[in-house]
Amino acid sequence: MKFAVIVSFLSLSVCAQTVDFDTNDIDGLEVADTTFVNLRDYSNDFVYDMRYATDNNFLKAKVYDCGECLLRFKTVKALVKANQKFLKKGYRIKLFDCYRPLDIQKKMWAIVPNPTYVADPRKGSIHNRGGAVDLTLVDENGVELDMGTGFDHFGPEAAHDYENLSSEVKQNRKLLRNTMTGLGFRIFESEWWHYNLKRSAKNFEVSNVKWPCD
Ligand SMILES: [Zn+2]
Repeated sequence: MKFAVIVSFLSLSVCAQTVDFDTNDIDGLEVADTTFVNLRDYSNDFVYDMRYATDNNFLKAKVYDCGECLLRFKTVKALVKANQKFLKKGYRIKLFDCYRPLDIQKKMWAIVPNPTYVADPRKGSIHNRGGAVDLTLVDENGVELDMGTGFDHFGPEAAHDYENLSSEVKQNRKLLRNTMTGLGFRIFESEWWHYNLKRSAKNFEVSNVKWPCD
């Protein structure tokens, strides 16, 4: 499948910032909260496993030409701060998905038309607004913490209120949840890996823009 490459929405975000600045300075950058930016331009401390740029996902298809983590700048600020907290504890965030164009949401809905797991594209997902992230934690060796299920496990075991989990899994989910919610993210009850920046549905419009690939 061939995506149209539209770069206009990126033009404001390509501000040649290095990733050497102190994370605390991110609040001082003159970037609008609603601007789409690439997380890589603001931090080198994340691990990427962008599943929809591979066929290792529930669609069993590569639906992104390349894996990039685009988000609204406000989401990036909160995510970078969350990662700083994890780094102090010897962990870091591994990302599975960030902003997702609306066309991809429609494909997902066609395969899994169940709002417990996939947002109805008629309303749009917070992913389509640049306010949601799918993620887990890895340790200093890059090994994923045990969260009880893999990413995009569509079953009750993935839910926050699922009880039949080891104490280690519960502790790992709690570490992720407490830090993310402390930085302004909201949980999604049926998916331990999904976090929405609060007020994203109000602050950010649905988008179908695709990011450029080399
Ligand atoms: Zn998600």
